[in-house]
Amino acid sequence: MNRPAGVHDSRPRVSPAPSLTSQCWLRLSVQVPCELTEAVANFLLELGSTGIIESEYDATHPPEPLAEVQGFFPPESSGQTLCDALTHYLDELALLFPQLDRPTPHVEEITNQAWQEHRRVHFPPLEIGKRFLLLPPWEPVPVASGRVVIVINPSMAFGTGHHATTRGCLEAIETLCTRFGTPLRALDLGTGSGILAIALAKLGTPEVWATDIDPVALDEAQKNINLNRADPRVRLSNSPVEELPGPFPLIVANLFSTTLVSLAPALGRATEPKGFAILSGIQIDQEEDVRAAYQAPGWHRRARIARDEWVTLVVQRA
Ligand code: SAH
Repeated sequence: MNRPAGVHDSRPRVSPAPSLTSQCWLRLSVQVPCELTEAVANFLLELGSTGIIESEYDATHPPEPLAEVQGFFPPESSGQTLCDALTHYLDELALLFPQLDRPTPHVEEITNQAWQEHRRVHFPPLEIGKRFLLLPPWEPVPVASGRVVIVINPSMAFGTGHHATTRGCLEAIETLCTRFGTPLRALDLGTGSGILAIALAKLGTPEVWATDIDPVALDEAQKNINLNRADPRVRLSNSPVEELPGPFPLIVANLFSTTLVSLAPALGRATEPKGFAILSGIQIDQEEDVRAAYQAPGWHRRARIARDEWVTLVVQRA
């Protein structure tokens, strides 16, 4: 589930919000093939964009071949210069990616209020399972929701809770903790925004390890961990699983299927006997490969959660 493959590109991503002091913003937008959204988003950030929104999230439809990338610039920027710079970059990209059909960038002025509204529409509060409530930081925390509130700032790191794979993991965490009690230790492998580690900490896991290979994700995870006051329980690391102080009674890994397959021996060693692993990021047509890598006698399959075209598997060590 790392960024480039375009597999998860229908997710919304927002980088740091424009400052509230400015009254209006220039919005520069362009439609590109999903696999190029990352490159274009990075270019807009280099150009000085203070916020990025990629695509629309609609879990009820398959991902679209084209996604919109929007950048937000201070009002004193020149719209024409921004458009020209992006057009030049797209021309260069077209040399490498012939599928890029010379899209036309658009620039328009939007009010600060419109930007705030945009974010509200993209990231509404979200109830997951019976226990979790996911909120972006600008939403007030309900006084008595009876739910475990997780505040996640939508950012460059994956994991707002709106994606089927993250939801599958949260549901599996809830079910395992309800049935078997909260584990004493857990590992969130590929933490992204930190959402799953925070969920585990807030359910009462005293020691949660959260790792990622992406420094941007580690930064964002740290901010979200602080926002949720989960820092006493969560330890962030960029170490590979083999170097962590395992074995763990619970590992949750929302990664690409190919990564899950190649990590199967390492996860086998890192999971305690009778311990659980929650595996997600699995597209239905790759489920068999993952199952084959996590099968008896070393593993037993305990649950399967399918949503949209994604599968989450819960497996238990023999
Ligand atoms: N756990 C979050 C984020 C999942 S996205 C959620 O469920 O929503 C997957 C994350 O795994 C990305 O941030 C990516 O950088 C990271 N990642 C990919 N391969 C990895 C590996 N081999 N080890 C650790 N992290 C990895």
